[in-house]
Amino acid sequence: SETPPRDFIRQIIASDLAAGRNDGRLATRFPPEPNGYLHIGHAKSICLNFGVAQEFGGECHLRFDDTNPVKEEQEFIDAIRADVRWLGFDWGVHEYYASDYFEQLYAWAEQLIGAGLAYVDDQSAEEIRQRRGTLTTPGQDSPWRDRSPAENLELFRRMRAGEFATGEKVLRAKIDMAAPNINLRDPVMYRILHAHHPRTGTAWCLYPMYDFAHGQSDAIERITHSICTLEFADHRPLYDWFIAQLNLFPARQYEFARLNLGYTVMSKRKLQELVAEKVVSGWDDPRMPTLVGMRRRGYPARAIRTFCERIGVGKSDNWIDYSVLEDCVREELNEIAPRALCVLNPLKVVITNYPADHSEIIEVPNHPQQPELGRRQLRFGRELYIERDDFMEDPPKKFFRLGPGREVRLRYGHVIRCDEVVRDAAGAVVELRCSYDPAPGERKIKGIIHWVNAVDAVPVQVRLYDRLFAVENPGRGGSDYRADLNPASIARIESALAEPALASAAVGQAWQFERLGYFCADPQPAADGRIVFNRTVTLRDSWAK
Ligand code: ATP
Ligand code: MG
Ligand code: MG
Repeated sequence: SETPPRDFIRQIIASDLAAGRNDGRLATRFPPEPNGYLHIGHAKSICLNFGVAQEFGGECHLRFDDTNPVKEEQEFIDAIRADVRWLGFDWGVHEYYASDYFEQLYAWAEQLIGAGLAYVDDQSAEEIRQRRGTLTTPGQDSPWRDRSPAENLELFRRMRAGEFATGEKVLRAKIDMAAPNINLRDPVMYRILHAHHPRTGTAWCLYPMYDFAHGQSDAIERITHSICTLEFADHRPLYDWFIAQLNLFPARQYEFARLNLGYTVMSKRKLQELVAEKVVSGWDDPRMPTLVGMRRRGYPARAIRTFCERIGVGKSDNWIDYSVLEDCVREELNEIAPRALCVLNPLKVVITNYPADHSEIIEVPNHPQQPELGRRQLRFGRELYIERDDFMEDPPKKFFRLGPGREVRLRYGHVIRCDEVVRDAAGAVVELRCSYDPAPGERKIKGIIHWVNAVDAVPVQVRLYDRLFAVENPGRGGSDYRADLNPASIARIESALAEPALASAAVGQAWQFERLGYFCADPQPAADGRIVFNRTVTLRDSWAK
């Protein structure tokens, strides 16, 4: 038996295809505005739009919604293309730009003017806003609403020719100032903006608004299912109105719930501010919810796709816990990441009964369940480092690590007992004198701790991350979201020592540092040349609930 489609969008598509709508054709699009980098919310839309195209044998277009020249840049266009590819999707030949349709959109605007369905308004943006009315009161007609088509056409052509200043006039659709849906109260179609556009340069000083550009772009590309987030549900009557008045391909809009993720922000304006104000090191700071940030942090693309599948596609807004995303990352990394040893906060151990001129090569598997990930060699010797946290002077009974007179097993190595604690002049513990048991027999040793060899350990910098914001919904209730930043969202560990294999770690390659979490090498080494390892995620969910 066939499994039913897994969400309402897929149900709609399946039944449209079954009914032969659009000649059995499916076309979707992902329409980013190139005014910033893509974030995890965009990933939900990408996985949905490209995902259904793959599953149902359709096509998905990458369309840059570049209708606002002021905030758009080529850098963002390039980054978006790279991010969609990285996520694992391919738009083939279907790369489009709303700006390529400017001439056609302009012609359609003249057509609507000719039909008495659009007019040039001299009111300021503020006056238009004030006269728009409210949910309970109708709007007021503009004093310019009854201009003749001929006068409107002449003015509109002069607007295009650059005769008016930015903001001096707009073109509005002539629909109904008393419409219960405020979006239908003579919405603005065009505004004057004397600005340089990354693709059309100074060819235009007249730019279409989202509502006049989006549906028509969908129609031009013969998009069958135009999927967007719920905020646009109220715009759908307008989307349909333009398409009907212009008699275009009947693209249809469907709305799904956007992704809201706790302890972060996803508005591009806010992300841009975090970058501009140097709260983070850039769009790709590993704490950012951007795809470039997550990639640098070590999140595999597949884990993000799994996440988008797991959260599903619904019709009501909800909040997703960050731990859902981190669980997907952990599950993926557990499968693919080779294991390694690294000590963050080293405490020296000298094994007094181990000969100084001696060492042992231990061959160990890189992954406990994946023999194909190979094996590597560790060198055991007399002087080692363990994690400072793995020693307690006066440990409680259930502390199965090292303490005076206690025993522990060194991972892949020997069982050692702590015989003596060495202190500096200030009384701080600086070294443990231990002895190893060459023949521990069947004796049960509960604790196993990680270590590195003093002879070949590699100094590295390790960065541990916490959530970027201290509260689930930053800026809630209109407060400044910056006040909710977590001041401890990054910790740089300068003392870390890694096993030798990590000296040649490739950028982005995932590792599990045993007992510490998953890590990957950052593209940028530390100032002194040391490799920097970012902690991608801890081994278990450690966030306080
Ligand atoms: P902003 O308002 O911060 O600029 P945006 O939604 O306008 O963000 P776009 O570049 O226009 O950003 O978004 C491109 C596509 O990604 C849109 O179809 C939008 O619906 C979708 N999208 C953006 N954010 C989310 C989100 N949090 N969850 C799901 N889809 C999203
Ligand atoms: Mg936007
Ligand atoms: Mg947008």
